[in-house]
Amino acid sequence: MDKVPPNNHFEANFTLETGDNQLMFVLVVDKNRKPLNPCHPARARKFLKEGKAVVLRRYPFTIMLKNVEEDCDNQQEYRLKLDPGSRTTGISILKDNTIIWAAELNHRGYSIKQSLESRRALRRGRRNRHTRYRKPRFNNRNRADGWLAPSLQHRVDTTLTWVNRLRRFCPITAISMELVNFDTQLIQNPEISGIEYQQGELAGYEVRQYLLTKWGRQCVYCGIEGVSLQVEHIHPKSKGGSNRVSNLTLSCVKCNQRKGNKPIEQFLSRKPDLLKKVLSLGKCPLKDAAAVNSTRWTLYRALSETGLPVETGTGGRTKFNRTRQELPKTHWLDAACVGQSTPDKLQVLIDKPLIITATGHGTRKVCRTDKYGFPVRYVPRSKFVHGFQTGDIVKAIVTKGKKIGTYMGRIAVRTTGSFNIATPNGLVQGISHKYCSRVQGKDGYQYTFSRKSCRTAVYVRGRIPPHT
Ligand SMILES: [Zn+2]
Repeated sequence: MDKVPPNNHFEANFTLETGDNQLMFVLVVDKNRKPLNPCHPARARKFLKEGKAVVLRRYPFTIMLKNVEEDCDNQQEYRLKLDPGSRTTGISILKDNTIIWAAELNHRGYSIKQSLESRRALRRGRRNRHTRYRKPRFNNRNRADGWLAPSLQHRVDTTLTWVNRLRRFCPITAISMELVNFDTQLIQNPEISGIEYQQGELAGYEVRQYLLTKWGRQCVYCGIEGVSLQVEHIHPKSKGGSNRVSNLTLSCVKCNQRKGNKPIEQFLSRKPDLLKKVLSLGKCPLKDAAAVNSTRWTLYRALSETGLPVETGTGGRTKFNRTRQELPKTHWLDAACVGQSTPDKLQVLIDKPLIITATGHGTRKVCRTDKYGFPVRYVPRSKFVHGFQTGDIVKAIVTKGKKIGTYMGRIAVRTTGSFNIATPNGLVQGISHKYCSRVQGKDGYQYTFSRKSCRTAVYVRGRIPPHT
């Protein structure tokens, strides 16, 4: 750990801010807050040591140069790459073929849905308790075009927040995002085009993604889920079946072997309903709507409004790029593999991404309720206690009592002035506000570093990662 001169009001702690033993680049801005080229952590450490820079933000770790001349020449090209997911969105920043910064953004869509449902139920109960019977209203409420459910809109909003935030700290010149699961060319005429043998390996990945969507990610014969599925010819190839997508389905290894080269009618002779379903579903192409994800399209439109060139990629290509380079499946590596612009050989210096978890901004409830909606507990009118609020990241240097030591983490405030601090080593309770100093104000997110290193994940599989 480095000693930083006292003129730096934030003492930098690299193992906490950039994760341990990794090369996550440090974001840099000049004194007018114009983003400069991100720099190597060693360089940032030197700047801070010599007093040429101060820490602007802990998460993402950003320094501000006191001297503008220091680093403003030769601006380079940085590509921000996104893999939007329902629970987690992968974010990577690439310079040429190197991943210099990576994060995984965990959304809270599910908890939004839950709390809206609970609010609805409580209101319903309250109306029934206190008011006369009211007839149901006409269905007279319209939704604007492009309306998304709050839990989905939240995904778009938080992703955009991070795109804009990163643009403030890094001179990003282009954006890539995964827009659809499989190639749109394939959607237009999917059942006519052939399989990988005719069109190359990439088309094979697109076909697989298409089949996964069409057949619902399960074995068509036994319905098993969560196992690896094989592409299956409905009419066996040896009996003259074609490679067309309409003749393909997905089955588990067992069913595939049991079916062998039997004709489908013979294999499913005891299950006439299933036979009928497979034959009819095989022929009908997947509707466009099934492949189009409204959340991703909304995000795409919003990203286009930033004015940066936005490249879109398919899930098939992402998987193709990642598998070809033998990279483990993580959200941030998937993000780095999105789109046609992905370099043939990605250099992965980072092994642990920054984990950003959306926590929300508390609640507007004036009292806490039990599960039936009855008030059980008072809620303080002000969120601030001795100048702190829940979600602030603080550093506490405790000098007296049983808990002597230094703690850093996210706090939960208590009106008594005795706070809880969530540190990387667990929750520390009952720390007085007197010992705390704020490191970064609450911004609706919680930050940690992934405990799992992607390098070890690669080693476990007996492969040597390409970058070592
Ligand atoms: Zn099966």
